[in-house]
Amino acid sequence: MAIHLLPPKVASQIAAGEVIERPASVVKELLENSLDAGSHFISITIEGAGRLMIDVADDGCGIPAEELALAVARYATSKLNSAEDLFHITTFGFRGEALASIGSVTRLVITSRPQNSKTGARILIEAGQIGEIQPIGAPVGTVVRVENLFFNLPARLKFLKSDPTERSQISSLVTHYALAYSMVRFHLHQEGKAILKTSGNGNRRETLGTLYDVKIAQQMLEILAEYDDIRVTGYISPTTLTRSNRREIIFFVNGRPIQDISLTTALVQAYHNLLMVGRYPMAVIFLEIPPEAIDVNVHPTKAEVRFRNRDQVFSAVQRAVRVGLMAYNPIPAIHSHWDVLPGQNFIKPTPEQIIDPTWDMSREAGMNSIDQQNRTQTLYPTARSEGSTTSIPLLRLVGQLASTYLVAEGPDGLYLIDQHAAHERILFEQFMAQRMSTIPSQTLLQPMTVHLPPAYDQLLSEQLPILFKLGFQVEPFGPGTYLIRSIPTLLSGSDPAADLRVVVEDFEEDETPLLAEIEARIIARICKKAAVKAGQTLSPDEQRTLLLNLEACSSPRTCPHGRPTMIHLSVDLLERQFGRKGAR
Ligand code: ADP
Ligand code: MG
Repeated sequence: MAIHLLPPKVASQIAAGEVIERPASVVKELLENSLDAGSHFISITIEGAGRLMIDVADDGCGIPAEELALAVARYATSKLNSAEDLFHITTFGFRGEALASIGSVTRLVITSRPQNSKTGARILIEAGQIGEIQPIGAPVGTVVRVENLFFNLPARLKFLKSDPTERSQISSLVTHYALAYSMVRFHLHQEGKAILKTSGNGNRRETLGTLYDVKIAQQMLEILAEYDDIRVTGYISPTTLTRSNRREIIFFVNGRPIQDISLTTALVQAYHNLLMVGRYPMAVIFLEIPPEAIDVNVHPTKAEVRFRNRDQVFSAVQRAVRVGLMAYNPIPAIHSHWDVLPGQNFIKPTPEQIIDPTWDMSREAGMNSIDQQNRTQTLYPTARSEGSTTSIPLLRLVGQLASTYLVAEGPDGLYLIDQHAAHERILFEQFMAQRMSTIPSQTLLQPMTVHLPPAYDQLLSEQLPILFKLGFQVEPFGPGTYLIRSIPTLLSGSDPAADLRVVVEDFEEDETPLLAEIEARIIARICKKAAVKAGQTLSPDEQRTLLLNLEACSSPRTCPHGRPTMIHLSVDLLERQFGRKGAR
């Protein structure tokens, strides 16, 4: 066959084939148009699993009558002007091809009325043939009705799955958008039945209840973290709730649902050692990234995006999930890791199985300076309304063990508390609370001079105001020399020069730090320095105060660096170990 240009009709059917694969693809395009139009209410009606009819009505900005014909033309869009704009996309659409594509493989009727118009207008397209525009009375907004999908492409029809499958594709798609756009009210009716109704009141957990079921939705853990300009929010399953595949891991990037194997991997890795082999978490994760840091124009249905800095996104997801899990996870319980050797009165703990060493994030392989720098940003995952799983039970002090651990009794067994980690957590929360007002500072009887190498000198001179805010009064005192006049009261009794050095060393890792980040990190550092050490004998009063203060913390189960502050030995386990209750 000689080379020839394809007739426009064939060309447009080929193009349509890329975007419109099944009924759910039509729903996706129409929903996205409604969202781009700034709608507050979107109602979707489906008949015949979407083969017979898909109707999407919105209360968005509408399309002026004189633009209706353009709207259905290929490469006609109101969302993009130049190729430059491609890198600042904040709308779903920009290619101007969806309506044209849909119109070439269906019967398409668009009825629309913009806010400032007295009447509406309607246009009909059938298999690519554009009809006349007719004025018609209509409410403000747009109704797009798509009938007889693929009626002119019978080959495509054969590829569609069973009605229930196509229907479930549509309902899960709509649910995903409803989750991402919790401020928009969504209605979905399929075959005359109401499938989904959201309130549009911004409550995501409510919508989560329709995606899973209410019981599961209630158990999902909320996460929130920010690293540089990447914001990670959403819901993750606790370790007690798992699935046999990764299908219930959903990612949104700037409100766009995307498939991304490496992000899924990042999430699954964050559950490393916490789930049984072959089990997977569930998650709905929303990433917000500056539009210029992603390329959304890489996939026919925009189901994938390209990240300018994939590693950064990957690690943001992983860390956000990890920190979230750590904060919510039940206190690491000792289950079967205490081996009683037969015939011996001897218990051998294997603590590395109890506390996964990978939780020590500073030791984490591949952790770069950005990780270090941002670590303290995530010390506070979202406070949950329920709050119960993050708190600890009331504890009765039993005593101190090896000058390092507190031993305490709770309603459900024995607790071993790492005194250093616990104290770090307490100080950190006290400091963070004080930060809102003024951090108490203690003036030194004798100002102290400290010498710093040039690199630190430079760093310190820029950060003096922050240090001042945190309770360090430090002044330049000749080249490379500083005068320390006061230190935070929390640090009283320690060596001021050493304290200052510790803080300045942290500055070194900064690249483009945010004030809040630096502060939180310095605070975490100061707390580490100020906390009681392992090996330090505490009086019974000090021990009791430590316990009481830990109970008062909002995240008592981990230290500011994410390590556990306590482990739990349940009565049940003790009973089994002592042979009081069924053999193991
Ligand atoms: P794109 O979304 O890529 O711009 P489409 O073919 O999906 O391309 O839509 C073409 C144009 O029609 C849009 O740019 C928009 O101006 C208009 N449009 C489509 N759907 C709606 C809607 N529901 N409300 C308002 N305008 C719409
Ligand atoms: Mg579009």
